[in-house]
Amino acid sequence: MGAKSKTKQTFSFDIKLGRNLATSITFTFSMVGSYTARSNNIRMLEKKVETFNMNRVIDEFEEMTRNADQVQKQTLKEILHKNQSAIYLQNFGINGNTTDPEAFKALVPLVTDLDLEPYIKRMVDGDTSPILTALPVPAISLSSGTSQGRPKFIPFTDELMENTLQLFRTAFAFRNRDFPIDDNGRALQFIFSSKQYISKGGVPVGTATTNVYRNPNFKAGMKSIQSLCCSPDEVIFSPDVHQALYCHLLSGILFRDQVQYVFASFAHGLVHAFRTFEQLWEEIVTDIEDGVLSTRITVPSVRTAMTKLLSGPNPELAETIRTKCMSLSNWYGLIPALFPNAKYVYGIMTGSMEPYVKKLRHYAGELPLVSHDYGSSEGWIAANVRPRLSPEEATFAVVPNLGYFEFLPLSETGETEERPPVGLTEVKIGQEYEVVITNYAGLYRYRLGDVVKIVGFYNKTPQLKFICRRNLILSINIDKNTERDLQMSVESAAKRLAEEKIEVIDFSSHVDVKTEPGHYVIYWEISGETEDDVLQDCCNCLDKGFIDAGYMSSRKCKTIGALELKVVERGTFRKVQEHFLGLGSSAGQFKMPRCVKPSNVKVLQILCDNVVSRFFSTAFE
Ligand code: AMP
Repeated sequence: MGAKSKTKQTFSFDIKLGRNLATSITFTFSMVGSYTARSNNIRMLEKKVETFNMNRVIDEFEEMTRNADQVQKQTLKEILHKNQSAIYLQNFGINGNTTDPEAFKALVPLVTDLDLEPYIKRMVDGDTSPILTALPVPAISLSSGTSQGRPKFIPFTDELMENTLQLFRTAFAFRNRDFPIDDNGRALQFIFSSKQYISKGGVPVGTATTNVYRNPNFKAGMKSIQSLCCSPDEVIFSPDVHQALYCHLLSGILFRDQVQYVFASFAHGLVHAFRTFEQLWEEIVTDIEDGVLSTRITVPSVRTAMTKLLSGPNPELAETIRTKCMSLSNWYGLIPALFPNAKYVYGIMTGSMEPYVKKLRHYAGELPLVSHDYGSSEGWIAANVRPRLSPEEATFAVVPNLGYFEFLPLSETGETEERPPVGLTEVKIGQEYEVVITNYAGLYRYRLGDVVKIVGFYNKTPQLKFICRRNLILSINIDKNTERDLQMSVESAAKRLAEEKIEVIDFSSHVDVKTEPGHYVIYWEISGETEDDVLQDCCNCLDKGFIDAGYMSSRKCKTIGALELKVVERGTFRKVQEHFLGLGSSAGQFKMPRCVKPSNVKVLQILCDNVVSRFFSTAFE
């Protein structure tokens, strides 16, 4: 018996989803079909949402990962079959008969987002011919674009929505096995659906999260995994993110006994939410006490929905919250104090989110921090199936039916090696790679720009650690520093600041080549005032913190100038965030650009306009 048919025999269930974007439908988890033949066995289902079956979802994942190689081949076959009429594929000589990964790789080149930009632009402009996908896409996602300084357009299809729900279910199953939550609980989710607009070609455009939240299957999917939001939909869809955040906090408190976990896509969002709570808690308590919503909420739909939720004065709850807040020391343990039945705090805490983990841990007290999974607007990639691991140790298991994955080997210095990319099951433990993705939504051999390290295998699928974004590199000549290097340098310098009981709220960097020689500039927003000599120490420490041999030798022989630390006014990084929100990125998806390119004039201007003090390193004098 061939491996494929054996697989089918031993593993005979799949999750079937209704997937008509235009129609609001319910969906069910049922036990028919094979996990691979996804497109064939998807149909509209009339049944109501059934109870989530944790063991079944885990078994499904186990089976799929045991057969990772076959699932990959089958996934590629389906993608190519489905999109066989796509002009892009036909131009490279792919036809309906191409099913073999080797033939596919020989014909279709590796590409970056820039290569695909003209094709996607045609789709945004309303060209409905089969450009990248056989059928016109129902929506376009705008990726956060915080790394490039400009949002990128990415096709969003029903399959990406399905993938999202599959990933959420898988991750939830593993999470719930380790940290079970109550059946009738809710999740305090800091989620924001930013504006969706219709392009001049008639295609809805929004961030990937917006496309997900607006999908009719989203709410049913959340309900089935016991993750119903505390806030009314009007809050999630509020055009004003500040008002939405206030209302998320208020809604969470109104449901405080039911809240089972607290979530934001990124740790930055969680920290931002509770920092905001520190500032606004008295107003929130007054709302609860009087049963009257603050006048700061002006969006009519949000006001109506929240007034209904408040449903009259509740002085008892107000007093409880007041007492809790006043008893905390420097807000340590705020989250469990507010939500006594919460089991964990959940969000992306790896990669560029690591700098927020310390503060998050402070707010979370004894509650476990669980790292959210690994994905992007281009599609989900891997699930956290070991939720007990701390954010520092978190790894992700690639889900083999979410796309066809390749891994481009990188050298120790982060350069692409001459070697071609390898398949999912051919990766080597300890090696770093750039992720290459082929998905159902018109991306073929697309370099994602993320660096990951293989740390092991879960059955036959790789377990990876997120390392950094590839293109975020501080470099003047032979020096090469990644986002992670920057982070480590900031962490070591922040220790000096911590001695003064001050923390780094946020940071970014820039390569200034207008000076001769060029030098690194680090921007810091810090939580208090301190002496200049402390900041001078920090500046020296930052400079010494870049331990890349190319940087150190260039500094010693002065082909790179002294590192400059620029301290910016409180609230500056909030202004940077506002700027990106204005460009259409969603509050939930926001990631602070850790390295600002010269082309990102506006962000540089915000940072420069708010500098309050500057220091030049004397570390190499
Ligand atoms: P976006 O396209 O705006 O959704 O951003 C996606 C990017 O966020 C990915 O390409 C990664 O660089 C980063 N990212 C996503 N998930 C994680 C994770 N679990 N850990 C670290 N970074 C992540």
